[in-house]
Amino acid sequence: MSGNTVYRKHLFDIPDDVIYLDGNSLGPLPKTAADRALATIRSEWGQELIKAWNTADWISLPQRVGDKIARLIGAPAGSVATGDTLSIKEYQALAAALKMRPERRVILSDEGNFPTDLYMAQGLIETIDKEYELRTTAPEDIADAINKDVAVVMLTEVDFRTGRKHDMIEITRRAHDARAVMIWDLAHSAGAFPVDLITSNAEFATGCTYKYLNGGPGAPAFIYVRPDLVETVQPALAGWMGHEAPFAMDPQYRPAMSTERLRVGTPPVVQLSILDEALQIWEDVDLQDVRMASVALSDRFIAEVEARCPQLQLASPRDPAERGSQVSFAFEHGYPAMQALIDRGVIGDFRSPDIMRFGFTPLYLNEEDVVAAAITIETVIQNDLWRDPNYQLRSRVT
Ligand SMILES: *Cc1c(COP(=O)(O)O)cnc(C)c1O
Repeated sequence: MSGNTVYRKHLFDIPDDVIYLDGNSLGPLPKTAADRALATIRSEWGQELIKAWNTADWISLPQRVGDKIARLIGAPAGSVATGDTLSIKEYQALAAALKMRPERRVILSDEGNFPTDLYMAQGLIETIDKEYELRTTAPEDIADAINKDVAVVMLTEVDFRTGRKHDMIEITRRAHDARAVMIWDLAHSAGAFPVDLITSNAEFATGCTYKYLNGGPGAPAFIYVRPDLVETVQPALAGWMGHEAPFAMDPQYRPAMSTERLRVGTPPVVQLSILDEALQIWEDVDLQDVRMASVALSDRFIAEVEARCPQLQLASPRDPAERGSQVSFAFEHGYPAMQALIDRGVIGDFRSPDIMRFGFTPLYLNEEDVVAAAITIETVIQNDLWRDPNYQLRSRVT
């Protein structure tokens, strides 16, 4: 288990017969999270009732959780608000960014971006109806497509399909050279490797917490605003929890003079308490070590799978510097092959049209797991086990 100093699988509830290679999609359950949720429900909600907003300090939970996330993405305390879903946080960031460049009409993104990010942009354009254009290019052409028409460059750092990683520092610099506003979606970055938002100087970042941060299904999203902009950005959704004084019950909206202005409504307290507990695991984890271990595991996985299964084509960049923390292989029968793997305890996922996707999360994966997974893949592929009719039927979630 060479050099994986961040391995702490004992902190997670993972079934013994499972090798979990899908923590990039839904992180596993931290052992203490279920007790925490139960305590929030039984002791706080059950016994304290509405008093718990004060007695259990539910009211500051979104900020406390935001500060823990900030530490993981190179952002200062107080610069990250939590709540809602990533789709909504993306919409808010985009709406606020467009307001910062009222004379420009182009939102620039890449074709590999996650559909919801593109959909939210399309929906926002429909709503404001001022002849905005969502322009997309191939991921590798993005930097050269930034020009003086571009109001906002909106990108996801790591491509959900291929794992290709953008150069955040360089692209942000190019955006700023053209006076465009930069939004980074960190869905596949936060908790996967070090992110340095301060150095990048990007105006906005968003992300979700149920992937590498293990906050559980439906965990709240986060949004970062560069501290110098916090008092001027216009939150698209002017909810009472983003008001300067929610309990003044002022009929006039006045945004908080902090990142809290990006909050909308009542926070999901049970889900936030689970996330707060999950984030505790990161307190003594160095993300540089996570990255080193993730690269070692991913490189080993690529070597093992390529040696055993020439039918699978690597769909991720071979150079680890250009990759996030996932490895994708293209295979014509990727869907049934993934079902066959899941049936044998190796859990990854499938992304249309033909991508078998595997996430590497060194907190609970080691080299032994990676080699064992590759052997199972070999068994499935070399014996055509994916041909079983049971594996052909598509579930609603792939
Ligand atoms: C996972 C993911 C999402 C999901 O958005 P939700 O609103 O949380 O469902 C959005 N964007 C990217 C880039 C993602 O990877």
